[in-house]
Amino acid sequence: MASSFVRGLKCRLCGKMYPVSPINFCEDDFGPLEVDYDYEAIGEVISREKISLRPKTMWRYQELLPLEGEPTVGLQVGGTPLVKADRLAAALGVEKLWVKNDAVNFPTLSFKDRVVAVALSKAREFGFTTVGCASTGNLANSVAANAAAAGLQACILVPADLERTKILNTSVYGARVVAVQGTYDEVNRLCQQIADRYNWGLVNINLRPFYAEGSKTFGYEIAEDLGWRLPQHVVSPMAGGSLIGKIRKAFWELAQVGLLEETPVRFHGAQAMGCNPITEMVKSGREAHRPVRKPNTIAKSLAIGDPADGYFAGKVIRETGGWAEDVSDAEISEAMALLAKSEGIFAETAGGVTVAVARKLIEQGRIPRHEEIVLCITGNGLKTQDAVVEQLRQPVKIRPSMDDFAPLIEEVGELALV
Ligand SMILES: *Cc1c(COP(=O)(O)O)cnc(C)c1O
Ligand SMILES: [Zn+2]
Repeated sequence: MASSFVRGLKCRLCGKMYPVSPINFCEDDFGPLEVDYDYEAIGEVISREKISLRPKTMWRYQELLPLEGEPTVGLQVGGTPLVKADRLAAALGVEKLWVKNDAVNFPTLSFKDRVVAVALSKAREFGFTTVGCASTGNLANSVAANAAAAGLQACILVPADLERTKILNTSVYGARVVAVQGTYDEVNRLCQQIADRYNWGLVNINLRPFYAEGSKTFGYEIAEDLGWRLPQHVVSPMAGGSLIGKIRKAFWELAQVGLLEETPVRFHGAQAMGCNPITEMVKSGREAHRPVRKPNTIAKSLAIGDPADGYFAGKVIRETGGWAEDVSDAEISEAMALLAKSEGIFAETAGGVTVAVARKLIEQGRIPRHEEIVLCITGNGLKTQDAVVEQLRQPVKIRPSMDDFAPLIEEVGELALV
């Protein structure tokens, strides 16, 4: 089932083609490069039936991913649930709502396992033995775990002020972790220099065109689980601004290769107020973002002040008739608790951003209450527990006696007595 459908890398600004290699920028205009496929040829070999017979992982859409041979890293990634969220829908005052839940993606509980599975499989095709990344946390976890499982060396750079859990969840896999005293954007610039100096496969630097393709599988799974059709609204969190555009590309590709009929989907972008370069750009009607120099939010996984795909994310939102909003830290933690209480899904801060922004857009009338909505939940709350602590009631302490227990129930009257 090897994929020979890749025609090369194509500049997203000028369209210039490059051969498949570990590069990420066009030499003429510094435009980002993107994988270019022969969709006609893919359309001839792919079918719903064929896909449905394959294991429920991201690799069931392998023809639409940029590997030459079989995947060798992250074989079990993807296939996460699309949850019909009726209780959250009631709380938000809408009728048809789904949660695409990558909080339970294997192996590191975020959608980053999808991009890393592609990037590290590609790194092996290129012959790299050391891999790495610049990360706001989840990517670090995923590169470290998947590299360990694949027997690759990993060197990972993160901002020094990251949540303790995200650092621990990287170090545990034996990766070399470097905590840089600076913002994510400074970490990222350092990583670009590292890529120039060492022969390493840095997943979101020189492997970025391949890495980014992994996000498409989040979109393919939404469409397949809806019965091979598209929702009317998607609300996606944005950090570098890549995921939102890749979900749109995924929907478009499924139509290109004849797997579904394309219907209009509005894409809405979600950020935190403390780091909102893309939402601020959309709301003020500009086509270029103003970088946020010092991000300040509990949603650290989204804290990229100078997003690489900010321009393209804005374009997706404008072209599809969607909108963008940002929310406060208080709204984020409250929405994390709401999602947990209504659907039993504990998402990280980025999930709180998505739910809180969805609520805002519904209240503004930007998302009509009777239309179909998919919320993108991209990471797990167990990694950002401090963000929700203040929302929770402390357990009541009692002695092991009915004299202590019964008054709690009978006087407060919160639990129904049978
Ligand atoms: C990386 C990340 C995102 C956003 O990804 P981009 O493609 O950079 O916009 C969203 N949610 C979580 C939890 C992430 O780790
Ligand atoms: Zn170019």
